[in-house]
Amino acid sequence: MTAETLVQREKPMAQLDDLKQAAMRHVWPNFASRVDLARNDPKFIVSGKGALVWDENGKEYIDAFSAIQTTQIGHGRAEIAEAVLEQMKKLEFYPTVIDYFTLPLVRLAEKMAGIVPGGLERFCFANDGSEAVELALKIAKRYQQVSGHARRYKVISRRWAYHGATMGALSVNGVSAIRAGMEPMVPGVRHVSPAYCYHCELGLSYPACRVACVEEIDRIIAWEGPDTVAAVIVEPVMGAAVGFAAPPREYLPRLRRICDEHGVLLVFDEVSVGFGRTGKWFACQHYDTYPDLMTFAKGVTSGYLPLGGVAVRPEIAGRFIGEHADADFVHGHSFAGHTTSCAAALANIAVMEREGLVDRARKYGAELPNKLRGLTHHPVVGEVRGIGMAFGIEIVKDRETRETLSAELEFTRRVRLRAWELGLICRAEKDIVVLCPPLVMTDEEGERVVKILDQAIGEVAAATL
Ligand code: PLP
Repeated sequence: MTAETLVQREKPMAQLDDLKQAAMRHVWPNFASRVDLARNDPKFIVSGKGALVWDENGKEYIDAFSAIQTTQIGHGRAEIAEAVLEQMKKLEFYPTVIDYFTLPLVRLAEKMAGIVPGGLERFCFANDGSEAVELALKIAKRYQQVSGHARRYKVISRRWAYHGATMGALSVNGVSAIRAGMEPMVPGVRHVSPAYCYHCELGLSYPACRVACVEEIDRIIAWEGPDTVAAVIVEPVMGAAVGFAAPPREYLPRLRRICDEHGVLLVFDEVSVGFGRTGKWFACQHYDTYPDLMTFAKGVTSGYLPLGGVAVRPEIAGRFIGEHADADFVHGHSFAGHTTSCAAALANIAVMEREGLVDRARKYGAELPNKLRGLTHHPVVGEVRGIGMAFGIEIVKDRETRETLSAELEFTRRVRLRAWELGLICRAEKDIVVLCPPLVMTDEEGERVVKILDQAIGEVAAATL
């Protein structure tokens, strides 16, 4: 089916004014923006193919938001729809609880054991990223408890980390705007400096800093008392909140050693950077460093259906499951590891393998930043960085000092809105324009992304500065 027929098929949907009114009256979107909703102009996405999506009027956009960083294989893949339909016709859903299993879930776990690095070969499933983080933290705490460390309940996390929105995940979240008004949090979390070199909280520069931020984790564990700390949770490459900031290469290996020295479990949250996003199956593979527990979601199904989970080192899982299990882990959600979602995940991974999309992300991800760096002819563009198909464009008032623009200017939000008008969907953090296109985005679409951003940044700069 061509893009044109896709769009035409959607047109009769009509009565759009009624739908827009209903949207404004009855829907409470997640992360609702009062400022943007005040425009009374809800944006509808009605169809998609590859890296492109179309609105209700048939207008085309490049989806460099990847439907909130999920759509690795691109939109509108018939093979996923077929796999889902086939599974639905056979058995839509049966929970994997107690001693009931479903075939797609077992096949998926077996498949993932061959993809996930570091010997993490036992999988406990969830519905999304936040649930996966909750689950990982619960496993870490419980494992410490049954290993004779009942006092180890604290978790070390980092400011600016994004780990989800449910209360446990929110408690380790480091984005203050999403935490605001939700306190008290789950007790026992300590936040430290992120590995965000462009705006280093410690005021240092790499490599002269000797990666002081990771040493802070060592110090806080020592100060809190190692016998009180269950786990450290980090995104191996920090996500959209800081525009995909990769840590210095020594950071994760050193963190692994720190955790081992203190008997603390290491959790990598790969929800947004897993499944090829960074040009390897998992971001931790860039650093040859592997965790005790690893969360995943989003890209596991390319967003076709919700799914998440935790990959667990066998020695840890073995305390709770398997022939030598000697402790209980009582946890579950009705839909965790939904049968049809697992079928979608298997089909998604098959597409990624068949089309070599992880390689595509690595190769094209190395080319596109060179083009995006052309945007630095705008004085407000402080840095363009990228790893795989994940890019951050830092907006600054002063490139030398890295001072940021006044929040009141809403510069990145304006860029997002202007880019939308010009046919590009991107993400706007306070001082960063974030791009994470589907791994299948073509070279031509990539050129268009650069052109649109060039125009949008130029126009917003001219209008606001
Ligand atoms: N962890 C990370 C690193 C994420 O980026 C996200 C979402 O963006 C989450 C957890 C939460 O996932 P979800 O939105 O599926 O609950």
